[in-house]
Amino acid sequence: MNNKELANLIFPDIDKTIEDYKKIYPKRNLDKKQKVTRFAPSPTGYMHIGGVYQALTNYMFAKNSNGIFYLRNEDTDSAREVENATKLIMETLKEYNITPDEYEYQGEIVGNYGPYVQSERKEIYHTFIKHLIEIGRAYPCFCGKDQLDEMRTRQEERKKRTGYYGAYAKCKKLGIDEQIEKVRNKEPYVIRFRSKGNFENKIPFEDLAKGKLSLSENDIDDVIMKSDNMLPTYHFAHIVDDYLMGTTHVIRGEEWLPSVTKHIEMFEAFGFEPPQYIHTPLLIKKDGDNIRKISKRKDPEASMTYYDEKGYPKLAVIESLMTIINSNYEEWHTKNPDKKYTDFIYSPDKMSSSGALYDLMKLDDISKNIISKMTKEEVYEESYAWACKYSDSLKKLIEKDVDYYKAILNIEREQKNPRKDIAKYSDIESLIWYMYDELFHPENYEWGKITDLDEIRTILNTYMEKYYTEDKEEWFHQVQLLADELGYASNMKDFKKNPEMYKGNVADVATVIRVALTSKCQTPDLYEILKLFGEDRIKERFAKI
Ligand code: GLU
Repeated sequence: MNNKELANLIFPDIDKTIEDYKKIYPKRNLDKKQKVTRFAPSPTGYMHIGGVYQALTNYMFAKNSNGIFYLRNEDTDSAREVENATKLIMETLKEYNITPDEYEYQGEIVGNYGPYVQSERKEIYHTFIKHLIEIGRAYPCFCGKDQLDEMRTRQEERKKRTGYYGAYAKCKKLGIDEQIEKVRNKEPYVIRFRSKGNFENKIPFEDLAKGKLSLSENDIDDVIMKSDNMLPTYHFAHIVDDYLMGTTHVIRGEEWLPSVTKHIEMFEAFGFEPPQYIHTPLLIKKDGDNIRKISKRKDPEASMTYYDEKGYPKLAVIESLMTIINSNYEEWHTKNPDKKYTDFIYSPDKMSSSGALYDLMKLDDISKNIISKMTKEEVYEESYAWACKYSDSLKKLIEKDVDYYKAILNIEREQKNPRKDIAKYSDIESLIWYMYDELFHPENYEWGKITDLDEIRTILNTYMEKYYTEDKEEWFHQVQLLADELGYASNMKDFKKNPEMYKGNVADVATVIRVALTSKCQTPDLYEILKLFGEDRIKERFAKI
């Protein structure tokens, strides 16, 4: 009896060979510079910001080289219902413009290297496993859970590395006849890779982000096919897929770095050249004095739904990720304010080695900038779409008078130094509520220097009686005249020279008008607000004081 018979016994229906698949999926017709990368999530029904960070890095690297970025659905671990999970992944990528060139979605396969869903590639994996059995690089393992638990306990007690290796790898030593007999007797088994490595040996490994490393050779006989559903494990499936799909660079989280030697050994067992690797740092955040991993359990911002619910422009989220993908992105962006982030050239060696610090304050800053550069039409459209999904109150406010809403948005917009107060669409209502009479029930008025109500009323009344104008060029001059009349310095120079001669200055007077109108001491341009209100509404506001 020989390995071939064992392989046929385990996979009687597999009649294709590796060579057949090499023909079905020929090498891609690309030049050496063009990169092929992939985003290969497991569909869990949850889209982590770290996933988008991975996808974006892969996308940038492929696109910079005019290469291919594809999506592969790694669903071999989840017996769960994956349809919605797959939808969430694809829709998120599309919304963020990280659209893959090749993918499988809702029954449609785009690209010549599909299926792109692992559970649909069982026959391919079986062919490759069959090959490994034939060449003696994979074997059935009959160790049950109890045996493996016992092995682990023993290893832990003796302070040994855990895992199926060396003398612990019992089934590695079974003779071929014994293996065949057990399979025939229908003893349950998994298939393990037969490692030839020696853990004591160090091998050089170059990660394009982390640089040159020296890693211990793999000696673990990992499970490559599970017993219940005969589906492969991640360790094995991705080897086959990355080979057949022509991946040139595997960009994935650094949690996979410890397994890279086993992956390389598997590629080599087939005689395939391994791809190049970029292991990306974890997304971390400041939590008080600590720095820790962004956690699905603790941090709402871990989920992509957070950004949607808060109403961040997609571009803001992307740019905030770009700043942590490459340390030189921000500088580049400052120097090239009119270029798109996709014009940036991503360099793996400019990734942080100690974790990528993700910061919501930073996101807010980036977002404020982006929103400040949008036209009123754009902010209207985006914020209205957001409100339709998440805020009935803003939706109603907008619908009541779209032009008025746009006019409010347009205060200090579409000009050289635009206002930068909106970080996300959910901020808008709390920034503009005072522009709506039905919402104007201020809890307090944020008076500045002048707090005496009689004085305030005098200022407001005199303003309306003698100095009110709708003329943009004139209005501030009128406030100056008002200041003069009531004993306030109408220009700051005079005031600074002799402050004791005045009750205050023109800015204090303008603040009174601002606060009386809005209750806030800080608002966008006062003249624009006055103009939007018009005389009657201004009087109504002043009458409340
Ligand atoms: N399915 C793996 C994960 O979700 C993919 C890792 C890889 O990119 O190879 O972590």
